[in-house]
Amino acid sequence: MPNAIIYTRVSTDEQASKGYSLPHQKNVLEMYCQHKGINILRHYREDFSAKNFNRPAFNELAAYIKVNRKSVDYLLFTRWDRFSRNQEEAYRIIREFRNLGVEVNAIEQPLDLSQPDSKVMLAVYLVIPEVENDKNSIRTKEGLRRAMKEGCFVGLAPRGYVNARNEEGKSTLAIKENVGSIIRKAFIDYSKGVLSSEEVRMKYFNRGLRVCKQTMLNILRNPVYCGKILIKEWKKEDEVIVEGIHPPIIDEETFDTVQRLISGKTIPKIHKYSEIDERLPLRGFLLCRKCGRSLTGSASRGGSGIRHFYYHCHPKCKERYKADEVNSLFEEVLSEFVIKGDVKKMYRNILDTTFHGERKNRELRVKQIKNEINKLSARMESVEDKFFDDLIDPSTYNSVKRKTQKKINDLKVELTSIKSLKKDIEDYLKIGISFLHGIDKLYKSSDARYKKKIVGSIFPEKLVFLKNRYRTENINEFISLIISKHKPFRRLEIKNPRQNDGESKKAPPQRLELWTL
Ligand SMILES: [Zn+2]
Repeated sequence: MPNAIIYTRVSTDEQASKGYSLPHQKNVLEMYCQHKGINILRHYREDFSAKNFNRPAFNELAAYIKVNRKSVDYLLFTRWDRFSRNQEEAYRIIREFRNLGVEVNAIEQPLDLSQPDSKVMLAVYLVIPEVENDKNSIRTKEGLRRAMKEGCFVGLAPRGYVNARNEEGKSTLAIKENVGSIIRKAFIDYSKGVLSSEEVRMKYFNRGLRVCKQTMLNILRNPVYCGKILIKEWKKEDEVIVEGIHPPIIDEETFDTVQRLISGKTIPKIHKYSEIDERLPLRGFLLCRKCGRSLTGSASRGGSGIRHFYYHCHPKCKERYKADEVNSLFEEVLSEFVIKGDVKKMYRNILDTTFHGERKNRELRVKQIKNEINKLSARMESVEDKFFDDLIDPSTYNSVKRKTQKKINDLKVELTSIKSLKKDIEDYLKIGISFLHGIDKLYKSSDARYKKKIVGSIFPEKLVFLKNRYRTENINEFISLIISKHKPFRRLEIKNPRQNDGESKKAPPQRLELWTL
């Protein structure tokens, strides 16, 4: 009795059509073998495309044949397109197996491959399904485009929407209440031109819009949210946007503003810190001692071509100082800020406990996420098994697969964001620790942007440069609490020291921003 291996294959996109189902193929092959008196050694089933032979089950099959060549007589499948959709590759494998003494054949399209004519027939059998496939996809594509032009939404609903049908049974979208309103808020926030798309993303991440950077941009660019449908160019038709029959999440005007902002046409200028800022970090914090105007600063080129930097008043006032002198005196002032010993200790304790707890929570969450991902992947596998055993139907399978995949993706996004949070915390720690070593050292080692934050945090009022010292109205109340009073300021004159008792007429001082530098 000759021995055969039977091979059944179906790819995901073929699952819809009945004739291709795996149990059907298996059934036909079993009946054939029974009728012909062939013993079935093994059955390999594949859920992979036949573009080439690099498929999991086929690889196993080939390995089995190589080892057991003496006991295998046939490799059988129902039709040639189950075996391959690629002519050249098919010939190669047929030759290879023939050399091992194994005859390859399709029972519904049998060929005598020892006859030269069979090559022509084989080509026909392999090409027909290809042509058939192309025709189908064109027909589908044309149908889809017609539906889209009528305002239908085809495809998977974007975030904030769910797939739905209207009264006429046309496929469209319905707003998913909570996510939809978050997306509306995100559009409105971004349209104000203050936050970047990334800042908007961060803002709504923990409020339920868990998307990555690119997805956030895709959302902000997607005309579906203002009720439109984008039909991409195809063949000779240009790309076109039509009115959809689905409800918009955001009005057209806001959507257009957002598009202008994204394309950079009206993006608010983010101040770039240049050399002039680095050399004039106190610009904006100084008052003229003569006329009380705010000092500005600039550079002028000397005879030797070297640039000299100055803080100066209005041209009419003529008051101007060399930047280096002003800057170094300011650094001296900062060196007089000595942080109390017990404050240092306390601050370090706070940093330790805060971030230790934070780290523990984070590690726990990372573990949870990894567990959940494993569980979901296992569930996917078991659903796949059930599907191939015909225990569940394709639409259930697809919807479970989609939901599970989405959950896994969301978890992966969260995992990435936890990792980036870790980097932020490390930055805080670095700054916090250098803060303990002294404000002057922190200031000196910072760039202009941080320098300005430090100055603004310590001095709520502007400073007046008096050649050998600074005068100011006030210093930050919190700073005055944590600095040691044992060493009096020699380079700083505080004009109206804030009374600790009694109500202050001034607005509360700026919050110390060292934490958020
Ligand atoms: Zn002046």
